[in-house]
Amino acid sequence: MKQIKRFFHNKPFVIAGPCSAESESQLIDIAKNISSDTDVFRAGIWKPRTNADTFSGVGEIGLSWLNSVKKETGLRTMTEVATTTHVEKCLKNEVDMLWIGARTTVNPFYIQEISEALKGVNIPVFIKNPIHPELDLWVGAFERLYKNGILQLAAIHRGFFTYNHSIFRNDPKWEIPIKLKEIFPNLPIVCDPSHISGKESIIQDVSQIAMDLSMDGLMIEVHNNPKIALTDANQQINPKKFHQILKSLILRKKAITNQHVYNRLTLIRREIDAIDSQIVQQLCNRKNIVKKIADFKSKHKLTIFQIERWYEILKNRKKDSVELEMNEKMLTEIYEVIHKYSVLFQTELISKN
Ligand code: PEP
Ligand code: MN
Repeated sequence: MKQIKRFFHNKPFVIAGPCSAESESQLIDIAKNISSDTDVFRAGIWKPRTNADTFSGVGEIGLSWLNSVKKETGLRTMTEVATTTHVEKCLKNEVDMLWIGARTTVNPFYIQEISEALKGVNIPVFIKNPIHPELDLWVGAFERLYKNGILQLAAIHRGFFTYNHSIFRNDPKWEIPIKLKEIFPNLPIVCDPSHISGKESIIQDVSQIAMDLSMDGLMIEVHNNPKIALTDANQQINPKKFHQILKSLILRKKAITNQHVYNRLTLIRREIDAIDSQIVQQLCNRKNIVKKIADFKSKHKLTIFQIERWYEILKNRKKDSVELEMNEKMLTEIYEVIHKYSVLFQTELISKN
């Protein structure tokens, strides 16, 4: 993909707007409030929803609303396309840029059809990563569009579905967009912290990580009243928060240190962060089991502290430490603390019963 045409140069390139277009006045209101920090205004008008009975977008009428946004604010506009009919309607209504959603990238038939419908058209197209972490599908989608002459391409990293409990709605798996960059060094990558986070509170941190990893832009969902949003209410932020996040981003200079080395280090640190967050989650799961044990002991009038059980825990951890070549003293100390708080917690629970 040597001839990819770069269609933006500023960094971060900011795409913002609501998850879904809900009314014309809503779009204009949001657009006016975010335009000073926004390069392209986004709004989904055909929404790929998991459940059949939920709001699935306003449809074609939303295209004229996007045009009103353009007239009122001068912002360029962007929406999601999943079928050739969507593409045709967007082109007819002069939408400036398109994105292909995560649920579409998984299907090479759709991607092929969309790229044929876009043949000969000079429009930037962003491709979101597929729902599951299969890099080749993402790569293949770019290749299909490129082969049909679509040269203004960019990626959107929106995280990956996982059944594991995580603080993220979609696991970022930062190593995947980094591998994509290695395959296509000139392909811009925009991070979508909204769909990765799934909640307002971590959007800032995810955006900062994306900048630290040298990503080119951000796609952020902004709603004038997130609480009553018809889709993705938990993760949409209001314009005030949006400006705050952008203002507080730290943009590091590339030249001083070796950016590649820095990216690798940051990536390894994110792996540590992910594991730490799993450790805390498991401690929380453990605490819930401790509560079960406390109820059981209380019901059967058993003592809380049972020395044999403590010896058994120590013996098992010692066995683990040998098998996993871990420092035995370290594991013993960690378990002394865990066990101490487990006993305290049970004492509290039983005294309340
Ligand atoms: C969206 O951007 O609103 C959307 C539906 O995204 P994704 O395809 O990442 O789920
Ligand atoms: Mn959304």
